[in-house]
Amino acid sequence: MKNIDVVLKEALEYSRKYIDKGNVATYIPELAKVDKNMLGASIVTVEGKRYHIGDCQHEFTMQSISKTIALIYALEHIGSKIVFSKVGMEPSGDPFNSMAKLETKDKYPSNPFINAGAITVAGLIADKYEFEDYLAFTRRLCGRDSIEVDENVYKSESETGMLNRSMAFFMKNNGIIETDVEKTLEFYFKMCSVKVNTDDLSNYASILSYGGVEPKSGIRLIDKEVLIVTKSLMATCGMYDGSGEFAIRVGMPAKSGVGGGIIASAENKMGISVFGPALDVQGNSIGGYHFLEYLSKELGLHYFSGELAQKYRKKVI
Ligand code: GLU
Repeated sequence: MKNIDVVLKEALEYSRKYIDKGNVATYIPELAKVDKNMLGASIVTVEGKRYHIGDCQHEFTMQSISKTIALIYALEHIGSKIVFSKVGMEPSGDPFNSMAKLETKDKYPSNPFINAGAITVAGLIADKYEFEDYLAFTRRLCGRDSIEVDENVYKSESETGMLNRSMAFFMKNNGIIETDVEKTLEFYFKMCSVKVNTDDLSNYASILSYGGVEPKSGIRLIDKEVLIVTKSLMATCGMYDGSGEFAIRVGMPAKSGVGGGIIASAENKMGISVFGPALDVQGNSIGGYHFLEYLSKELGLHYFSGELAQKYRKKVI
């Protein structure tokens, strides 16, 4: 394998060029204030070694990345039977905040990573657990006790998230959400507003890569079956309606958020997190996406990359 520090430098240089083509999320007013030129990344290998570069200490809100932790929490504490009686397992092909499919005969959210699905999962958790319980789990996975909710982003989302609000009421009307809607939304907006940096998220991603076990302590933090379900959904639905192309170009289970973060898990190799607030049309960090593509090609991280496959792929795409 090439020297990781060198590849990180090259990846930063390569991916910076794409930032101009992206824009920060503006539909949550607080996110629009961020400098779009930031870019950073962190890696934790399954041996527990850390690498990082650029704006890796800058804190940003998890946004949709939190949907993976909420799913893990719900599967472990509430159970897959209940969770998947409320949300599906299929990519929606629609934008993350679309309500369109909720109006069809099969009125359930397509998967737990679109907003409707994540709000449903948040409702299931909020019904039985305190937000502090969920936050403690997030802190444990990220390996930092001082992780907190960004109150300004939380307020901003809560005051302006009319689409999420209407979705929640619509699903309550249809019996998909059974918990109090305000309680559900408070939980959802808070989990999206948890503030982290790429060092934190690469700790979490390394656990995803290492079969649910934290590399540095050897402690299991995620149940094996739950991990398989979560990573499969990340592979099929983790990058919004760009998940298919991402699977070809990068080939790692991943999850992005409109705050500009992405986590990616190279099976049995390393957990990666990138941050760049300029987003592409699908809502994925444009710099982060290209950063991961570069890393995947240079370090052979694609899930189907045997040596031959690597050679073949460079010719095609
Ligand atoms: N809090 C954001 C929303 O609900 C999350 C969206 C995302 O990161 O995809 O719109």
